[in-house]
Formats: sequence, structure tokens, C-alpha cells
Amino acid sequence: MKDIKSMTLAELTDDLLALGEPKFRAGQVYSWLHRGARSFDEMTNLSKALREKLAGQYELNYPTVARCLHSQKDGTIKYLWRLHDGNCVESVLMQYHHGNTVCISSEVGCPMGCAFCASTLGGLVRRLTPSEMLDQVLFAQMDSGLPISNIVLMGIGEPLDNYDTVLRFLELVNSPEGMNIGMRHISLSTCGIADKIDRLAQENLQLTLSVSLHAPTDEVRSKIMPINRRYNVDTLLDACKRYFEKTGRRISFEYAMIRGVNDTPEMAQILIRKLRGIAAHVNLIPLNDVAESPLKPSFPEVVRTFRQTLEENGIPATVRRTLGSDINASCGQLRRNFEREKSLGKE
Ligand code: SAH
Repeated sequence: MKDIKSMTLAELTDDLLALGEPKFRAGQVYSWLHRGARSFDEMTNLSKALREKLAGQYELNYPTVARCLHSQKDGTIKYLWRLHDGNCVESVLMQYHHGNTVCISSEVGCPMGCAFCASTLGGLVRRLTPSEMLDQVLFAQMDSGLPISNIVLMGIGEPLDNYDTVLRFLELVNSPEGMNIGMRHISLSTCGIADKIDRLAQENLQLTLSVSLHAPTDEVRSKIMPINRRYNVDTLLDACKRYFEKTGRRISFEYAMIRGVNDTPEMAQILIRKLRGIAAHVNLIPLNDVAESPLKPSFPEVVRTFRQTLEENGIPATVRRTLGSDINASCGQLRRNFEREKSLGKE
């Protein structure tokens, strides 16, 4: 059966016209779906006959809350969603001054294998569907009562490894008849699949592209990010340049500060050289400790000096505020702990 919440309004309209319904009916159904209806029976402005017909033809899924953690410090809420097939993914809702932001997952697990990341430890289980991405925004808003205005695709998974789904999700969440979240309020983070960055540039969307750089040399980057063996630093940065030329959107580079690995003054100098001529902003992220990894976070004074060096050389850099540190809010860790408990029979 077709997953109805993954369909665009145009597709739904075609289907309903073929069922002999008037055009406005599709708008009604779409509106119910994008307000988080859990069943066709909730769609009370449709006839019972039509509701039954739809229920017989389409799949309508929604996630349930498997775990929910509230930060006492800053209001951050972390959700572990159970999907209809029992798999779990995480989202994090952060309350910023510029609006409530939800960080969503694009895959169950991740195939990319970055050495510092908890999401990839068990590999890729499966990719999400468009509706499963949309539901993370929709149900975070419904559960929390907080209106969501911003989205970051920085949860579990590699969005550009699930390209078509992510594009469809963007179309759905951006649609005026749906949540109507503007592209300028959406960020997509990638580990650096250069050919997909080129493809994304052609879509000419106004979203913010974040690139997880984490190291400016192939030697260091290949050690911590296997994707670098396929698309090296120069190949990646060339794609970033083309992305900027096509879209006019400045690129945000993420750089997790790892003690003794990528945080030395020499690394800062190489980074400055590599980013010269690119409209960039560098986001320095204190590494989150992942129990399974020997990599440790840089010392705070090292992070400060690194940032200063970048700024002095004309590269805008900020140190990311860590939200939700009391609830283990970094991606992948909640799902991992949950899966471990389940396998120990504690659930
Ligand atoms: N796959 C995408 C998006 C998900 S990860 C990507 O690679 O960009 C979101 C960000 O968190 C990425 O920059 C990722 O490198 C970073 N990250 C992963 N594990 C981390 C950790 N332990 N500490 C700090 N940042 C981490």
C-alpha cells in the first residue's frame, strides 16, 4: 500500500480525482495529514465511505514516543521515536532565541563510519521515508506544544545518502498547505558526498548547507572520516565552491574539536589556507565523548585559541553552545543505549 503522508498535494489530488472525488478533497486530506492525524477516522469532514476507501488503499503511519528526556538546564527535549516497524530514531528540540528548532534523523543508523560518531556504530539499518522525516517535526511540535520554526538535518544518518527522500521531505515540510517551514529556516548537514553536493546545488534551494569537515588534511580526515577516501578534502571544497556560486548561500563548516588530532595551531593554519576564497563560516563543536571511541574533546582554552586564529585570519568562527548536555543530547547515543537495554531484556 502507498504511504499517503509521503505524497505531495499534487499526487494526492491526482489520486483522489481518479477516485471520482472533487479537487478540494485532496486539500482536506493533506491538511489532516500535516496536522498529525493518526487515522482516517479522525478526518471528520470526509464521508465515512471515503474514509473507509482511503483506509483500504493507503498506509497511514505515525511514530510513538519510546523515550523523552527534558533538560533541566535549557529546555531542550530529546525524543526517541518508535517507528511503525519497531525501529527507533532520535530528534532533539532546542529552544533558541530565533525560534524552536528540531534536529531530525534521516536514517536508522548510518553507513558512513565516522570514528567519533555514535550513530554509525551499528551501521545502517534502513533509510527513512519522507513521512518518517516529516513526522519527527510534526509530532515533536504536537507533543511539546512548541511551534517549530526551524529544522536541522543533523540527527542520525547521512541525508545525502537518502537523497530523493530528503528532497521530497523538504518539499512536504515547505509546502504552504503543510507546515510551511521556509527553506531559509532549514539546514542540511553532510559528511561530504561531493557529487551529491553538486546535485543539490542544481536544485537551487535556499537552505543552509553544513559540511562536516573536521580536518583540513587528507591524512587526518581519512583517519576519522572514511568518506574522505572517496572524496578528498580538495574535491569536497571544490564542490562547496560550486555550491556557493550556484546558490549564493554561504556554507557552514562543522569542525568537532578532537584533542591532539585536529586542534593544533598547525591544523588551524592549514584550515585557513584551504578555506581561503570560500564564503564560509566555521562552527567549532566541542567533541562529545562517545564511550566506544578513544577520541577525546579538546581542552576549552585550545578551542578558544583555535577560534581566535581563524577569526584573525578573516574566517568567521563560532564555538557551538552545547544544549542538553544533562540529557545526552548528542545524536545517536539515546538510540544506542535503548537498543542495548532492549537486547539485555530490560525494556
Ligand atoms: N551525516 C551528517 C549529519 C549527521 S551528524 C553529517 O555527517 O554531517 C551531525 C554533526 O554531528 C556532524 O557534523 C557530525 O560530524 C557531528 N558529530 C557526530 N558525532 C559527534 C561527536 N561525538 N561530537 C561532536 N560532533 C559529532
